[in-house]
Amino acid sequence: MIALVYLHLWQRVWRPTHTPLYRHVYTTATVLLAAGAAHAVVASAGGLPDGPEDVVGVVSVALAVLLYVVVNNILVAAALAVTRDRAGIRELVGRWDDNAVEVATLCMGALAAVALGSTPGLIALVLPPILVLHRAVKVRQLEEEASTDAKTGLLNAAAWQAEAARAVRRAQRSGGSSAVLILDLDHFKLVNDAYGHLAGDVVLAAVAGALRAGVRDQDVVGRFGGEEFVVVLPDLAPGAAGHTQMYEVAERVRKRVAALDVAVRTPDGDGLTVSGLTVSVGAAAVPADGAGLEQVLKAADAALYTAKRDGRNLVRVAGGAAVRDIPAPRAAS
Ligand code: GH3
Ligand code: MG
Ligand code: MG
Repeated sequence: MIALVYLHLWQRVWRPTHTPLYRHVYTTATVLLAAGAAHAVVASAGGLPDGPEDVVGVVSVALAVLLYVVVNNILVAAALAVTRDRAGIRELVGRWDDNAVEVATLCMGALAAVALGSTPGLIALVLPPILVLHRAVKVRQLEEEASTDAKTGLLNAAAWQAEAARAVRRAQRSGGSSAVLILDLDHFKLVNDAYGHLAGDVVLAAVAGALRAGVRDQDVVGRFGGEEFVVVLPDLAPGAAGHTQMYEVAERVRKRVAALDVAVRTPDGDGLTVSGLTVSVGAAAVPADGAGLEQVLKAADAALYTAKRDGRNLVRVAGGAAVRDIPAPRAAS
């Protein structure tokens, strides 16, 4: 049975995704250990429930499901914690709905185990719900694909808008301020013209990486379209301090992009390094420049146009006074 399940997994999931073998070995080990823990609970309570009076048996099955989830999650989180350099708690324990599907599957497993002990024929009834659960997993994967920009791995425009609006509303409720950055690569058409569109795509992915690395975990980064990116910075300090934070993040990101060296291949197959990339950034804050995401996005977009007009490779923030207060960074050639 186990061999059959793993053969199916290998064929449907592992082979197409090219995940390294050691991960499957680890994942399989976590499953075995979690199952071992679940088994130990039931065994220590005298085995599966064997009659309507066997309350201890019922409780032990419920505990077994719980222990399976706990052991499995701890082992997976431990592996993630040591291999990812900035894994947030949400990434470590997984999404709520993923865990819900896991628990639902385990409940079906528990019922199947009890059925196996008394009326094995009933196991057939477990199959339809399992198939439906599998579809639920597939829907989750599709949802994730639908909200991700394939070239950069960032959120796409629609998904970003939804998540950014949520982040801004959360910040508003807690009385803090938040900010929006819009970034547009400077003269990006020249990169495409010089090295080809495939090289351009590699550059876009590198810029996305620099962007992600230059902001905090809770900041929401998306690809707005073409060579334009957007970031929401929730949880900024209120007032002038928040404004300064916003400007500092924008400057940091601008510098990170300027420092990028991206290895690409030209259409002729020659390898070379693209450097000297620059980005113009428009920034605007909630509530200073608008009451909601929509208005602040507009204000940031206007600031971006100012940055382009002023010579590119610049950060400009919405609101004239703030712009004057900011020392002018070096202009692009
Ligand atoms: P500016 O400094 O004024 O922003 O100049 P620009 O050349 O960056 O601006 P423009 O809007 O004229 O050109 C944007 C270019 O971005 C044109 C298009 O070929 C390129 N682009 C948009 N999306 C993609 C993409 O997905 N891949 C690649 N390789 N290029 C893209
Ligand atoms: Mg553009
Ligand atoms: Mg551009």
